[in-house]
Amino acid sequence: MEAHYLTSLDLNGFIEAARAIPYQKINSDLFPGIEVWIRRDDLLDPLISGNKAYKLLYNLIEAKDRGVETLVTCGGAWSNHLHATAAAGARFGFRTIGVVRGERPPVLSAMLRDAERFGMQLNFVSRQHYRQRSQPEFLKLIGAQVANSIYIPEGGANLAGVRGIRLLGGIIEATHPISFDQLWVACGTGLTLGGLSSSINSFPVRGVGVLKAGESIRREALRWLTALAESAARSGERIASSDIALEDEYHCGGYGKYPSWLQEFQQAFECESGVPLDPVYTSKLMYALSQEVSEGHFSYGTKILALHSGGLQGRRGFQLFD
Ligand SMILES: *Cc1c(COP(=O)(O)O)cnc(C)c1O
Repeated sequence: MEAHYLTSLDLNGFIEAARAIPYQKINSDLFPGIEVWIRRDDLLDPLISGNKAYKLLYNLIEAKDRGVETLVTCGGAWSNHLHATAAAGARFGFRTIGVVRGERPPVLSAMLRDAERFGMQLNFVSRQHYRQRSQPEFLKLIGAQVANSIYIPEGGANLAGVRGIRLLGGIIEATHPISFDQLWVACGTGLTLGGLSSSINSFPVRGVGVLKAGESIRREALRWLTALAESAARSGERIASSDIALEDEYHCGGYGKYPSWLQEFQQAFECESGVPLDPVYTSKLMYALSQEVSEGHFSYGTKILALHSGGLQGRRGFQLFD
């Protein structure tokens, strides 16, 4: 299966690419008794990939429509969002500024090296300043206020971001090849879980938290459900009310923790399925699913769809974690 390249910033072209994303049936002994499929959104684009592409989409379109020159955003040293924003800026003709938490290290992470290579200006700020990133004064405080720019919050977490995830939900509703019993998705902030829960009605959505913050992931997912419902009420659109379902026992020690047994699981999965995973999100997603199977939580023949949310560039240099 070949990765596609998003070549222009155009909603219909994006939708066409997203509708063509394959659903792949996994044949593996790691999930005995159930049927597992993966929707390969890692293939949407090698650089602007997975859920980060959907979160950026409407932000980028708005920037283009308003004639904005510079995208300003922020993240940590291993942020898939920074990476995707830098790549999108290079591809679609925006300057990019990435505000990064902490001091500039002597050796940049592979992710930040790429971001610089894509032309992103990196602006390192103290952890203390970084904590104020959702305050209106933040950019002024750190001297990153530039003319003719838009600010995209960390992780692409704004209403435009969650609308992009709802677009993904709608596409899944329209294209899923068989009738599934559940959709599984990896969660960092919970925005993707909230956006998908609000837009998929044919089967329930279950999140797997990849960090020790189950309560805040649930809260964030619910916050986006509420924000969507409010914005829909204003425009007369209907948003299905939904619960948030989150597995929070599979963070494997915390964000970016990658114990040897997870590594072994990932290798076995990749070997049997031919589908590459990333160490931070999708490996924990598939691991959680295999554990739930082995603990007997599914009835025989249950059909599960897992979302491949991308992040594959995070595979490189992963030993730098810890
Ligand atoms: C960011 C990210 C997620 C988590 O998305 P949230 O909306 O923050 O929960 C999942 N998978 C990958 C690969 C990501 O990069």
